[in-house]
Amino acid sequence: MGAVAVAVAMAGFTLPVSAEDEPTSAASALLAEADKAKGADDGRFERLLQDAGDMKLSPHDRALYDFLRGWQATWVGDYESGKRLLEGVADGSSDVVLRFRATATLINLLGVGHRYEEAYLRLARLQEMMPSIRDKRARFMGLGEASQLLSSAGQFDQAESYAREMIVDPPPGETICKGVQHLLRARREGGRLDTLDPLYDEAIAACTRPGDAVFAQTMRADIAAFYLAHDRPSEAVKILTIHRDELRGLNYPVLMAEFDALLGQAYLRLGDMANARRSALSAIAVAIRDEFTDSRRSAYEVLYKVEQRLGNLDAALGYHERFMAADKAYLNDISARSLAFQMVDQQLQARKNEVEALNKQNEILRLTGTLARKEVETGRLYIFVLLICLAVIAWIVLWLRRSQLRFMKLARRDGLTGICNREHFVDQSDRVLAYGARSDRGACLILFDLDHFKSVNDTYGHAVGDETLKRAVDVCRRALHACDVFGRLGGEEFAVLLPDCNPAQARSRAEQLRLSIAATSATQSMPHLHVTASFGVASTMQCGFELHRLLVVADAALYRAKRAGRNCVTLGDTADIPDSPYLASEARG
Ligand code: GH3
Ligand code: MG
Ligand code: MG
Repeated sequence: MGAVAVAVAMAGFTLPVSAEDEPTSAASALLAEADKAKGADDGRFERLLQDAGDMKLSPHDRALYDFLRGWQATWVGDYESGKRLLEGVADGSSDVVLRFRATATLINLLGVGHRYEEAYLRLARLQEMMPSIRDKRARFMGLGEASQLLSSAGQFDQAESYAREMIVDPPPGETICKGVQHLLRARREGGRLDTLDPLYDEAIAACTRPGDAVFAQTMRADIAAFYLAHDRPSEAVKILTIHRDELRGLNYPVLMAEFDALLGQAYLRLGDMANARRSALSAIAVAIRDEFTDSRRSAYEVLYKVEQRLGNLDAALGYHERFMAADKAYLNDISARSLAFQMVDQQLQARKNEVEALNKQNEILRLTGTLARKEVETGRLYIFVLLICLAVIAWIVLWLRRSQLRFMKLARRDGLTGICNREHFVDQSDRVLAYGARSDRGACLILFDLDHFKSVNDTYGHAVGDETLKRAVDVCRRALHACDVFGRLGGEEFAVLLPDCNPAQARSRAEQLRLSIAATSATQSMPHLHVTASFGVASTMQCGFELHRLLVVADAALYRAKRAGRNCVTLGDTADIPDSPYLASEARG
């Protein structure tokens, strides 16, 4: 079958140059012509190739030249050179169509040469390229090669499917001839040829192109085999004998051997021993030596059976031995093909799995990377959110602290004048006095009360009274030191605690305050309105460091200042302590 295969496939190799391969140089033109002439006109083909070979070739032309030389070597049976040249193109050309064509030719060559493992590996490459091949002729030829090789590997479904594509969509100029031949052969070899479809006759009738005759004859051989398998030997003889002479003209020894072997079988069935023997001997004579073909096996079978029936037992035995050897070789070849296909299939599957595993690994790595990036992003986001939260919390704390301070300040300050209120004054003074007591530094307390303030209120109103209070406080503030404690004890009564101060200094400071108040107008709007204040001074030297005692003594002194006519300063005396109407309520309490 192998040699038939090469003849059948290569007869369909005439490929006109497609538009995009339009020759651009003289060498390109020669090669394009050679491509057209191949398989049709050997002499012209060789001349064109030689002429092109003498020229300087572009890389693409070089690949086309090598392809044509490889094709030629395959045609004449120089498989080694053919293989080398075609492999170079199939693996090296940048033109995918040329690579595809070289691969298809290589598949044919490897199949014929029984190098099945390599053939199936190439088939896998061809199938990979198949989807990208738009060139209809190249695709058509590739489909034929693939179908044929798949049949030989026992992959009949796929072989039939490729053949059907050839039938449905042949390139311009082609007919159903080749496609149906592949379909028919796949069915015959797959044992699926149950009926004779009228399509076969149609296809044979359609085989009118120059290289088509061999396809028509191959189909006739298949039809004859069908007749034989269905016990219709005379019909087999008929179809084979009618076309045998025509086939002789084609000069395809292997197909000739197939015809004769089938004829031998048919005559044997019909009991025509002479013709059976003649046909079988002819089959063996024309069959290529050392080819493990079914024809050879079948011819020896016919011969040993003929001799057996004729009673030539020695001859029968001799042929039987040869039949056994040919049968074994043929079966070995079939199992070698099937085994090679399985091996390649496994190899490809393993490689696919490996690639898939690598892809999965890459995918996992990519995902891990993405995840890590996401984690970093999420981490950054967390930090950002955390910082925002911290900022918000800090702001709230600050705001709370501020309002707390504001409240504390408010709680400590007198609402009208802004100086210490009674409670705060007491606190601060206690602290200062405690420190004075520890450091043995004397301090003095000045107590003063605005004179006839009630009449200010009564005469000018409460608002003027308020302003008068504020102005008096401002005047005093300016005259006081930073370490002095100044407070409003209530109404129009104020106190100043002077740390580190003796009675004389205190008196002079009180005088200063008194003069300042008296000299300043009571309100801005009434420059002529003046108020005065009366002052009482107490010293720790007389009373000790207890605020309570200082207040009582200063209050008594203030009372005496009022009694003395107001707007004056009176120093305290421990004898003054009893009953003073100016005693602050705290002090009194
Ligand atoms: P004296 O010289 O004896 O101290 O006479 P005085 O009128 O100042 O004393 P008196 O105790 O009779 O009157 C104090 C007045 O101070 C009564 C009260 O209405 C007024 N007063 C107390 N607190 C305020 C205040 O915050 N604003 C205003 N406008 N008046 C106040
Ligand atoms: Mg008063
Ligand atoms: Mg008063």
